[in-house]
Amino acid sequence: MIMILNTMVMDMLKEFADMPADAGLKDALKEFADMSVGAGIRTDWIQAAGGNTSVKISDDLMYIKASGVRLCEVNEEYGASVVDYKIILEFLEKGRLDEAAEKNALSMALRQGTRPSIETFLHSFTGKYTLHTHPVAANVLLSSENGMKELKKLFPESLCVGYCTPGIKLGAEIYKAYKSAAEPPEIIFLQNHGLIISGDSSEYVMNKTQEVLDIISDYIGAGENPDKLVSEIYTAVREIDPQYKGIVCRSENRYIYEALKMNGGRMWKYRTCPDCVVYCGENIPDISGSAEAFRNYAERFGIPGVVLSEGELYIIAPDLKKAMDIESVLSFSAKIAVSSIGRDIQEIPCEEQSFLTEWDAEKYRKQMK
Ligand SMILES: [Zn+2]
Repeated sequence: MIMILNTMVMDMLKEFADMPADAGLKDALKEFADMSVGAGIRTDWIQAAGGNTSVKISDDLMYIKASGVRLCEVNEEYGASVVDYKIILEFLEKGRLDEAAEKNALSMALRQGTRPSIETFLHSFTGKYTLHTHPVAANVLLSSENGMKELKKLFPESLCVGYCTPGIKLGAEIYKAYKSAAEPPEIIFLQNHGLIISGDSSEYVMNKTQEVLDIISDYIGAGENPDKLVSEIYTAVREIDPQYKGIVCRSENRYIYEALKMNGGRMWKYRTCPDCVVYCGENIPDISGSAEAFRNYAERFGIPGVVLSEGELYIIAPDLKKAMDIESVLSFSAKIAVSSIGRDIQEIPCEEQSFLTEWDAEKYRKQMK
């Protein structure tokens, strides 16, 4: 038994030595992280720890999102597992699709990191870069009676796969259809589930996902999508600060929505408590749906923590937890505004607002030392 284990470990180490040169691997990991965050901040594409990403880095290894990790939290040090996808493919070929085979395949194929996503199976045969999402627009058709037929008409080159339990069963079902396709399909629709797009670069995969969803949105008559501005702001922030590691998100908080609506889509008097100033800043600029307006403001005054656009608030924060903190403070302030009808809201005096922002910046700088 010990002998067998030792041989396995030796094989794994040998495999590791075959990993591509450092520089190429680093670039691939960065692209993997960027694609994961870029997709993960879109709540119209991904919810909770759903969806997954992968990048094939050699003839047998790929980076894939680790199980239970949120895509928007992936970075170069967190959230990527290295898996031998050839081993996963062998399991799919063998055709044993029970829970034990699934568990066995995932643990035998793992080369680095924690347990890989349950959807590792469907990533083992797709293109070099693969993004699997659960988009709202696609699921309108994926969850409707004739939706699969409509999708096939809209995208004749796509693969449409009937419902299957996520994991090895779903992987095997897609693999069967994938192998019999004339050309390797770039677009795969999964009934009552989601979308898979693969291609040669992360940029291609991200753009293709948006393109497919734009066509579906037009077809189902969905109106303007405020979540697209999340991606545009994120791109602008990263152009201004290429080292930016944070996220952008759109608030869906009910009180924030009510306070904005009550105020004709304009920002309410939110600077009523020290936390409102410290967390949300002295000013929440209105960028009116334009990433260009955001860029102009950020270049002049620095990247803001919160921006307003066409009755929606967008939060720019170092991570999800900080974004949730900011939203919670904004929600508190919105509740005050909504409950203050007929009263004149008194904000903290301007000099005190400046003091609070400076004071917080100073505290932040100290923490960074
Ligand atoms: Zn899924």
